[in-house]
Amino acid sequence: MSARVVVVGSANLDLVVTAPQLPRPGETVLGEDFRTVPGGKGANQAVAAARAGADCAFVGAVGADEFGQQLRDNLVAAGVDVRGLRTVPGPSGVALIGVDRAAENFIVVAPGANAALTDLDAADGAAIGAADVLLLQLEVPLTTVVEAAGRARAAGTTVVLNAAPAAPLPADLLGLVDVLVVNEHEAAVVAATAPGEPAVLLDALLELVPRVVLTLGARGAAYADRRGARLEIPAPRIAAVDTTAAGDAFTGALAVGWAERGAARDGDAVAAVLRWACAAGAACAQRPGASTALPDRAAIEDLYAATYRGAP
Ligand code: ADP
Repeated sequence: MSARVVVVGSANLDLVVTAPQLPRPGETVLGEDFRTVPGGKGANQAVAAARAGADCAFVGAVGADEFGQQLRDNLVAAGVDVRGLRTVPGPSGVALIGVDRAAENFIVVAPGANAALTDLDAADGAAIGAADVLLLQLEVPLTTVVEAAGRARAAGTTVVLNAAPAAPLPADLLGLVDVLVVNEHEAAVVAATAPGEPAVLLDALLELVPRVVLTLGARGAAYADRRGARLEIPAPRIAAVDTTAAGDAFTGALAVGWAERGAARDGDAVAAVLRWACAAGAACAQRPGASTALPDRAAIEDLYAATYRGAP
């Protein structure tokens, strides 16, 4: 049976324009090409989990506009169950993104419909309860994140929280997290420490949650838990083309691997799950684009086999 993953999170349409240089305040510059790309950490991680082989459901909100339809269609095309996706009055969430020739960018996010995801209903609760893993981020109202995590905990569903965008976490949420996934910047913000060595960040975060996965970009990922396990997983060596959404690919695949291998119960399984997630992140970074570069299961398996041959 496939791993069952539920994501409660955001969906945004990225409106991306490239330009020779970014405008200063008050300035207008002539841009080059324009494209729309489905995004939002929640939707991206749901698509990542579905492509990685999960039976994945998404709980979120889009607006009653064309962007909302585009976001919905994109999730459906990836095989994500959208029965928990609301259409609410007003605009969908958008991210306005400018990129210059040096790949420098500016991003302005208008949460739109994502801010209206304030309640979970009985069907959402049933889906969370029937899942192996609930995957959360911080782009929808915090009260909803806490409520979803509470329902998962009550039903014995594993709670994986990707604390992005970086924010300090309230105690009522920390107490419900089984696995925290953070990059180095997010780790420092959540732990309220200065950026530092991975081992120091992991120690600080274990004061808050029982298991921590720290992503380290081209260096791979590190893991620590309160039972004393410590792992460092090197990333596949690849020619990185565009690392946008690599973190989403990693986190979506981690949720799938965790659900499939029951990682909480077996130390070796955690290492295998981290390798699988690193393979997904790297496979995403090998291709241009953000959500369009999220790898499918075959691509993850290929890079996993090529990189970690001989490992469990
Ligand atoms: P974020 O984008 O959220 O800051 P990271 O940059 O740490 O996250 O990337 C997430 C994961 O994607 C890493 O842990 C790694 O497995 C993979 N990854 C990202 N960049 C590269 C790269 N240049 N080479 C290989 N793997 C990468």
